[in-house]
Amino acid sequence: MITEAIFATKEQIQKTFSSHQIKSIQLRKQPIADRKKLLRRFSDFILSNRERIGNAVHNDFKKPLMEVDLSEIYPVLSELRHAIEKLDQWTAPQKIDAPLTYLGTRSKIVFEPKGVCLIIAPWNYPFSLCLGPLVSCLAAGNTAIIKPSELTPHTARLIAELVREFFEEDVVTVFEGGQDVSTELLRLPFDHIFFTGSPAVGKVVMKAAAENLTSVTLELGGKSPTIVDKTARIDDAAKRIAFGKFLNNGQTCIAPDYVLVHHEVKDKFVEALKREVLLLFGENSKIDEASFSYSRIVNQRHFKRLSGLIEDSLSTGAKIEMGGFVNEQTNFIHPMILTNVAASSRMMEEEIFGPVLPITSYSTDDEMIEIINSKPKPLALYVFSHNSGSRNKLLAATSAGTVCINECVIQFTHANLPFGGVNNSGIGKSHGYYGFLEFSNQKPVLQQMSRFSSIEMLYPPFRSKLKQSIVKLMLKYF
Ligand code: NAD
Repeated sequence: MITEAIFATKEQIQKTFSSHQIKSIQLRKQPIADRKKLLRRFSDFILSNRERIGNAVHNDFKKPLMEVDLSEIYPVLSELRHAIEKLDQWTAPQKIDAPLTYLGTRSKIVFEPKGVCLIIAPWNYPFSLCLGPLVSCLAAGNTAIIKPSELTPHTARLIAELVREFFEEDVVTVFEGGQDVSTELLRLPFDHIFFTGSPAVGKVVMKAAAENLTSVTLELGGKSPTIVDKTARIDDAAKRIAFGKFLNNGQTCIAPDYVLVHHEVKDKFVEALKREVLLLFGENSKIDEASFSYSRIVNQRHFKRLSGLIEDSLSTGAKIEMGGFVNEQTNFIHPMILTNVAASSRMMEEEIFGPVLPITSYSTDDEMIEIINSKPKPLALYVFSHNSGSRNKLLAATSAGTVCINECVIQFTHANLPFGGVNNSGIGKSHGYYGFLEFSNQKPVLQQMSRFSSIEMLYPPFRSKLKQSIVKLMLKYF
């Protein structure tokens, strides 16, 4: 049973923010060993609450428990373990060499916490997209205010409970609610905002941040193209694309949004994909309400949005290769594969964010590249090909937040890789060291070590012939 949400008033939000500001200054002096201790205890705490987390996410959109383990709990634990292991290294001041003109100085970069940070999260991975950024935020020594998505209320409530049980209130606080609560929070002069969600709301967040000149990380979405060329191992490509697309019911920011397949292998690929989708998500050769491994659309609004996209594409000539069965009562949409989808249809213009995969064929690399470049820069680009020449051509000719070659969606949990979009798909990077950097101010500290400063030689007055010669030399050589 979900308990009733307690929504904070404007005054409570302001009061909490002020207490975080005080705490964040104290945290600047906190030893790194204490940060690591907190992260270690938090890791144990999450593991000991595995069942509560599984149930909450399952109650929100019937996400299979093992999928919760793998795609909600594990990414947070992996972030925690990585941060604990690397934090001494990440926080150590970085020695910087002095250029010749700075002879006699010593410099370093120190990583100071930004201060009070706001984390606004979406509903599609409601646990990991709240707490993953929190790990980076705490590893960098900040306090955090979190606003989970209102569309997954069971998980939002549980996160609020877990945070209350584990953290001091002026270190991490959760405010539940929707747009109104977000808007109220966005008025405050946070030191950093980490937003995950749609490009449309990303623009709202960035505008609000501009009022306070707050730095932002925007983890957004978009249409991630997936290329299958004629040299691809079709069965492997189909299996990986089926997994990446229909995991979480297609509600994944980096899910393949559409497939561009070389026309010579299109039929073979469509058949292989149908087979793999059934193998992964079906039972007794069918995928239905009883399927154990398949989640649901999050709510009626998104169910209707997807139904609208499907209707629009069918009315403009799309052919159903797989799927067609939906249940409005339970937000169930059978995995759907479409071909003949019109380039001008909404399906090929909007981010799909559901279990529908349009497949379009192409004949030349140039034609395929032109289709990709006609759309805003995607969060992910997948290419299945064993021709390194055409792969390299594609990578050089296109832009994307992340790329996988002969793989799909697994780049997200790679601890040593930065994750993020570019322009319409995002600004800034997250995960591991890159997440730590995002929540840190990289502060250069220069120290003059000698009484004689080489720069003094260039102070005014400027009539001296010697100074003029030095400047000449400088302009020419240094
Ligand atoms: P959304 O933008 O609608 O909502 C995200 C958050 O913003 C929620 O907490 C919501 O309450 C809040 N919000 C909504 N309207 C707001 C407003 N006007 N002002 C301030 N806050 C507001 O996104 P969503 O539907 O929850 O998530 C889906 C989107 O997120 C997709 O575009 C997906 O690609 C993207 N996404 C990106 C990543 C990533 O890591 N890059 C991960 C998951 C999802």
